[in-house]
Amino acid sequence: MIASVLVEIKSKCLDKNFEYMIPDLMRDTLQVGMRVLVPFGQQKLEGYVLKIASEQTGEYELKEILEQIDDRPVLNQELLEIGKYVKDITLSSLSSAYSTMLPRALKAKRNNTISKKYETQLTCSIEMEKAYLRCKSEAQKKIISLIEETGIISKKIANQISSSAVKTLIKQGILKEEIKEIYRYQIGLLEQESKKELNKEQKIAFEKIKASLEKDKTILLHGVTGSGKTEIYMQVIEKVLMEKKQALVLVPEISLTPQFIQNFAKRFSSEIAVLHSGLSDGEKYDEWRKIMRGETKIVIGARSAIFAPLNHLGVIIMDECHSDSYKQENSPKYHVLDIALFRSQYHKCPVILGSATPSLEEMARAQKGVFELITLQQRVNQNPLPNCFLVDMKEEIQKKHPILSRMLEKKIEERLQKKEQIMILLNRRGHSTFIQCSACGFTYKCPHCDISLTYHKTNGNLRCHYCGYTIYQTEKCPKCYEKSLNYYGLGTEKLEQILKERFQNARIVRMDTDTTKKKEALDKIINGFQNKQYDILIGTQMISKGLDFPFVTLVGIINADLSLNIPDFRSGEKTFALLCQASGRAGRKDLKGEVVIQTFNPDNKILDCVVHQDYEKFYRYEMQIRKQLKYPPYYFLAQLKLKGKNYEEVKKEATKAANYLKKKLDPTSILLGPTTASMFRINNIFHFEIIIKYRFDSNVKIAIKELDQIFLLNRNVTFESDLNY
Ligand code: ADP
Ligand code: ZN
Repeated sequence: MIASVLVEIKSKCLDKNFEYMIPDLMRDTLQVGMRVLVPFGQQKLEGYVLKIASEQTGEYELKEILEQIDDRPVLNQELLEIGKYVKDITLSSLSSAYSTMLPRALKAKRNNTISKKYETQLTCSIEMEKAYLRCKSEAQKKIISLIEETGIISKKIANQISSSAVKTLIKQGILKEEIKEIYRYQIGLLEQESKKELNKEQKIAFEKIKASLEKDKTILLHGVTGSGKTEIYMQVIEKVLMEKKQALVLVPEISLTPQFIQNFAKRFSSEIAVLHSGLSDGEKYDEWRKIMRGETKIVIGARSAIFAPLNHLGVIIMDECHSDSYKQENSPKYHVLDIALFRSQYHKCPVILGSATPSLEEMARAQKGVFELITLQQRVNQNPLPNCFLVDMKEEIQKKHPILSRMLEKKIEERLQKKEQIMILLNRRGHSTFIQCSACGFTYKCPHCDISLTYHKTNGNLRCHYCGYTIYQTEKCPKCYEKSLNYYGLGTEKLEQILKERFQNARIVRMDTDTTKKKEALDKIINGFQNKQYDILIGTQMISKGLDFPFVTLVGIINADLSLNIPDFRSGEKTFALLCQASGRAGRKDLKGEVVIQTFNPDNKILDCVVHQDYEKFYRYEMQIRKQLKYPPYYFLAQLKLKGKNYEEVKKEATKAANYLKKKLDPTSILLGPTTASMFRINNIFHFEIIIKYRFDSNVKIAIKELDQIFLLNRNVTFESDLNY
């Protein structure tokens, strides 16, 4: 027997299957989708078995497989096909597609050291009543009673009660030892909560979704913040489980808070597997195997969980479907929605997209009838949406209120007195984003990148937010040695300090990537704020999504212009989503909410739509701009990147690539560039960009594939493409 093996070779894109003899020893056990170790030149490499056949295709002499790594396939039939699909839509290699899909422990890579975890457990080998009668001490009784409760306990826990009691019970044949494989990640047992009575709007939505179960349909559930989308998801899942099928729930990474997972665990006990970047490699490995073995009914996870190997999918839910965390930024640059649609067809199950602010692409597809649109216009319990106020910061600066406007300050004061909670969004971390010497004009810049360094007061250093370059802050200007350094630009760290000085009795906590490097730190902040240990939560966009705090009645947005000014055609859409999401945190339960938005552009159309929470108006306005400027959803956008250490060479190659494309593309397609990318130099690598806007042009894909091949041979310039930019 012969196996075709996709060998994991370091050099990129070498996507070749090689044939190997299957030794007699593996004949009965080796299956397609398993990993094997094979000889490759002088090396031994891992690879995936993609085919098993009785005869070889070529005439050359075959080597034997050295080792079978898995005892069951890591890639099942569906995953094997998804990999080919990912390769096709992203133009990546098949091996990088499989590598992206699998958790680290199951990738074909050398030196994988993550292993299964085992534990010695104790069970009772005689009848419970008899066991009790034979107990000679309180400790022995306690151990027996614990086993009576759950049927089995870990020996470690029993030893904590009394190791001598454990020894005696085993010696007397009352307890039996067993070595069992255990899963590292545990949600823990939570008190179960029953489902809520759906309100009228929710019920209509639920019925419509129910009618689509068992169909490969996509539903866009457009519901304002707090309209109870999560409750609908849970009731749909309940229905799916009753049909003996499984559910896949995807959320943006930062919404994967303990809050969200616990809500599901309270409803569905322990039938849940969780997959996100907060888990260790060992935990992910265990969760993945639990899913593979069919021991789980619901998977909740971030982007890569879309590949979870559930065999009886009944529904796929993408919460906050507009989130850009659903797009992978590294190759293969896939979008979760494309994979979801693929799996929906494969399993004949619906995809539910939920959001208060769907992306224009999603809404346009719903308007065209490609997706079914279901709208929830009201908050649960008919709570009104919060009142929004815009504050013109140009005036506030004149009145010497450059950071906290008078209105926001007054409203914070009122909330503190009423013991209600406040959230303040500032989408920029650190202390000061810009330091300048007033004597000589010196500024700190990253020597490797194209940006100024951000000052972090807590550690007393200056850091590049792109490459991590760090230097210590000095009191004197490093150029003219004067003590005249000034700090400009506001980050969350400085804002925290300012608020602490201004509201000295308030309990303030900050949530951004600097304060939540450890997973436990994030849980602590969220739980602390939920339990009212804090009055004010300051944070970056991390605080805007998914969190549900009933006592928050005021949301302040410090600099709404930050995201408006990002050079990206989606900046309007992103700002609208961010500010609506953040506003949606106010007044979620019984208390009325208010939102104060500070800006230097009070006439901005997008901000006006946020203030009126008017998605329809935003949609019409933004679609018109996209149409005029020929952007998605009217055109597809492909982004090509060329990178290298030598500026002149990258520029030359980028120009050549653009000229090549001009010849190949359909005249209806539009080619822009090459230009220097918006972050021109990162870590001493120069970036050039080419954009293609196209509608119906099959040459785009062909031409990019050809460029891919050409640049494979170029050692100095790398070429990357994103067909779905
Ligand atoms: P969304 O996801 O649309 O922003 P959530 O699902 O988080 O909204 O719901 C907001 C709040 O309302 C939650 O605290 C949720 O428990 C509660 N809720 C949802 N549906 C109902 C209902 N039918 N009856 C009572 N409370 C509900
Ligand atoms: Zn840098």
